Amino acid sequence: MIIAILGAGPAGMSCANACLSFGLTPVVIERGDHLGGAQRSNFHPNLWMLGFPGETGEAMTQRLAEHYRALPVLTYYRTQVSGVMRRAAGFHLALSGLDTPLQANAIVLATGTRPRGTPEFGQLAATCERVIIGPLSHAIRDDIRGAKVLILGGGDNALDHALFLAERGNHAVICTRAGLSARRPFIESCLLHREIDLRTNCPVPRLSCGDDHVVANWPGRERAFDWVLVMYGYLPNTHVLKSFDPAIRPALTESGHLRVDAWQRSSVPGIYAAGDVTESPQPSVQTAMAQGLTAARALEKDLSSS
Ligand SMILES: Cc1cc2nc3c(=O)[nH]c(=O)nc-3n(C[C@H](O)[C@H](O)[C@H](O)COP(=O)(O)OP(=O)(O)OC[C@H]3O[C@@H](n4cnc5c(N)ncnc54)[C@H](O)[C@@H]3O)c2cc1C
Repeated sequence: MIIAILGAGPAGMSCANACLSFGLTPVVIERGDHLGGAQRSNFHPNLWMLGFPGETGEAMTQRLAEHYRALPVLTYYRTQVSGVMRRAAGFHLALSGLDTPLQANAIVLATGTRPRGTPEFGQLAATCERVIIGPLSHAIRDDIRGAKVLILGGGDNALDHALFLAERGNHAVICTRAGLSARRPFIESCLLHREIDLRTNCPVPRLSCGDDHVVANWPGRERAFDWVLVMYGYLPNTHVLKSFDPAIRPALTESGHLRVDAWQRSSVPGIYAAGDVTESPQPSVQTAMAQGLTAARALEKDLSSS
C-alpha cells in the first residue's frame, strides 16, 4: 500500500518512519530542498524535548534527518503536487517536474505552517532585506548587533526575539496593536529589560525602506530603525488543497487548519493530516511526530479493513 506524504517536517518524517513499521510504503513529497521543516533554522534550544537538554532545533533536525535518510523512503525534493483526483480505491497525484503521476492508496498532509504577514509587508520584504517576516532568519541570529529593531506583534515569538536581540546589544521596540498574547515570563522579562520598549495599543506603522534603514510612520510621528521584524503568527499551509479535485477537498476548521479526528483522519476518506497544518492547543515537534505516528496507525487499520 503506497502512502503519499506531503511535507518532510517532523510530522511527515515521523509518519513515513511509522508507515514502514506498519508494513506500508511511504513516498514523501517535499516542496523545499531540505528535510526538517520549521525547526531546521531554529537556533534556540528545544526546551520541550525531554532527553536532549540544550539541543537546538537545528541540531535536533540533523538528528531526525540522519535517521530518516537511513530509511528506505522514496523522497522527492523540490516537488509539489499539481493535481489530485480520486482513482478506484486510491488517488492519482500529478507532481511538478515528474512525467509519471503517483498512484497512492492514501494521502497524509503534513505541510505545516508559514509566517503570517500582510500583503503590504510581504511586498516590502520581497525587495528590502531589512524587513523580515517571521522568526528565526539567519539575519536575526548573525547580523543584527548594536541595532535599533522594531518588532511588530505581541506573541511569544515577538517577545522572545526582543529578548534575544536585547541580550546581544540591540535596542528593541515592540509595537502591538492590541494587548499582549505572549506568556507571562516573556512579558515580565521584557518589562525588566532596559533595552526593550514595550508598546501596547500601538497602531500598525507604514514602512518605507532606505539603503540601510527602515522608516516607520505612525500618525504624526516617524522613526528610523535598522531592522523591522513582522511577527504576526502563522497560517496553516493548506493552499495545496487548491490542486485537489473539489470533491475530495477536506474540511477546514474556523482558523483554516485541516479538521481531523483523534486518528488524524480528515473529512475525506483516505486523506489524513498531521502536525501544524491541523489545529493543536500546543504545536510542537513532539506533537507533530506523535500525530504522524497516529496517522500511520490509522492508515494501517483503515487500509487493512477496506
Ligand atoms: C519560531 C518557532 C519556534 C518553535 N520552537 C519550538 C520548540 O522550542 N520546541 C518545539 O517542540 N516546537 C517548536 N516549534 C514548533 C515546531 O517547529 C512545529 O510544531 C513543528 O515543526 C511542526 O512540524 P510539521 O511537520 O507539522 O510542520 P513543519 O515543520 O512546518 O514542516 C512542514 C514541511 O512541509 C513542507 N511543505 C509545505 N507545503 C508543502 C507542499 N505543498 N508540498 C510539499 N511540502 C510542503 C515544508 O517545506 C516543510 O518541510 C517552534 C516553531 C517556530 C516557528
